[in-house]
Amino acid sequence: MSKPLIAGNWKSNKTVGEAMEWLQNFKVVTTAQVMLFVPFTLLHPLKKKIEGLHLSIELGAQDVSPFDDGAYTGAVNARQIKELADWVIIGHSERRQHFGETDAMLAQKVDQAKKEGLQIIYCVQDENIPVPLGVDVIAYEPVWAIGTGKSDSPENASEVISAIKAKTHVSSVIYGGSVTPENVASFVSREAIDGVLPGGASLDPEKFANLILCSQK
Ligand code: PEP
Repeated sequence: MSKPLIAGNWKSNKTVGEAMEWLQNFKVVTTAQVMLFVPFTLLHPLKKKIEGLHLSIELGAQDVSPFDDGAYTGAVNARQIKELADWVIIGHSERRQHFGETDAMLAQKVDQAKKEGLQIIYCVQDENIPVPLGVDVIAYEPVWAIGTGKSDSPENASEVISAIKAKTHVSSVIYGGSVTPENVASFVSREAIDGVLPGGASLDPEKFANLILCSQK
């Protein structure tokens, strides 16, 4: 694997001040494709700062409205996100679990994101979860491995990812679930695994930089 995709997911963490500080302390030289998925409130200031510092970090949102512009109080839609970011995560298990997002609603979100030209990382919890047409990357994230410190084995992750690729014909599939600097190489060294989606390990800039460096070994 020459150019793994490393997609940090900040979840519901960080103020603008904290995000600026993170960026000041994030120092890495890498050939990896690095992405950050951040709260909506951070997209604009991070975009400006990343451009100002000439960093190769692609920005993404962690959710998108299933609707167009209009009377949907509290929703942030794909057209609004596209002004500030190129990517969006859809279908994270925390959205399914805490916000009641269904497969049907997620398919609507994918349609909206595609319509506006956003690229999509679509999360699945196993190889049997339906994947809407048009997603760019799939993230295999077993629920029991998210934020628990217990990652899947690279062997099993590789098998599940191969099954997902065979089923969906999506060529880029990454693994997420307690990825750390210590275990990242064991995942990305597998032929089938195209990268990783670290949550907790992306919150600290030095740890995230180290994880990226370790992914290249
Ligand atoms: C995630 O945010 O999708 C995730 C897998 O989190 P963590 O790396 O903390 O398990």
